[in-house]
Amino acid sequence: MRMILVGPPGAGKGTQAARLVQNFRIPHISSGDMLRAAVKEGTELGQEADRYMKAGKLVPDAVVIGMILDRITKPDAANGFMLDGFPRTVPQAEALDAALKKAGFDLDAIVLIEVADDLIKERVTGRRSDAAGNIYHIKNNPAPAGVSVVQRKDDTEEACTERLVKYHGETEPILPFYEKKGILKRVNGVGSLDEVSARIRKALGTH
Ligand code: AMP
Repeated sequence: MRMILVGPPGAGKGTQAARLVQNFRIPHISSGDMLRAAVKEGTELGQEADRYMKAGKLVPDAVVIGMILDRITKPDAANGFMLDGFPRTVPQAEALDAALKKAGFDLDAIVLIEVADDLIKERVTGRRSDAAGNIYHIKNNPAPAGVSVVQRKDDTEEACTERLVKYHGETEPILPFYEKKGILKRVNGVGSLDEVSARIRKALGTH
């Protein structure tokens, strides 16, 4: 299974991807997680990415495309992968398509998790995570007592607004390309984690 999860910031892509990959036994490849790891390590790529990420802006295509195309050629992705947060622009979608064509692979599905903008702000500004990467929400899914959590630098209201602008302006335009191929599955992202997981499985025909 070669698939993409797409949706606005805070739609639940990361959480749902983590659940789904356990079923499919494919790596969860999150461009955001890879970039955050590079920032933490202080690599050259990380230092460049940090400036954009803090402001909720997109990291330049050339940086992200190189990073992801390199990642999907690793042995653990030979039988499939779940991309989360990539592609996010038309040039990224084109680069992925060209790379897959060259390798003789097809994408099986792209799942769009849909959540309206007004709900997104509440979700994103309340999101917290712990050192192990578990994701919580201050109201909807509080961390257990004693677990210390942090807020992502780009989960502030200001950065969230910018990320939504980027999503509608740069990421949504990739959808018609996949719709034409007949592999775009739209899923309602409002509901419990289990409800949304069930909808995704149904859309993929794997329930
Ligand atoms: P995410 O964890 O997917 O919400 O991504 C967090 C941030 O990382 C985004 O707001 C961007 O600054 C950057 N980023 C992640 N994936 C991409 C991508 N495919 N293209 C450009 N920037 C990205």
